[in-house]
Amino acid sequence: MPAAPVRTVNCPTCQHLVEFTPNSRYRPFCSQRCREVDLGAWASERYAIAESPPPEDDQETRGGSMIRPDFGS
Ligand SMILES: [Zn+2]
Repeated sequence: MPAAPVRTVNCPTCQHLVEFTPNSRYRPFCSQRCREVDLGAWASERYAIAESPPPEDDQETRGGSMIRPDFGS
């Protein structure tokens, strides 16, 4: 039986032709190196944007019983 046509993609980093198969571990990149290069560029951009820390759940405003001993007196 004929082999299934293999889909190929170009490595986003170096434009090398990469087989888009489970065997291509770093697809769509041709190698771990190219993958890290791209991720590195991407991550550094993200870090620049994500300067502020993510919002944390504010425990004090969640499920607070709001008990005030002096309330209504
Ligand atoms: Zn590459």
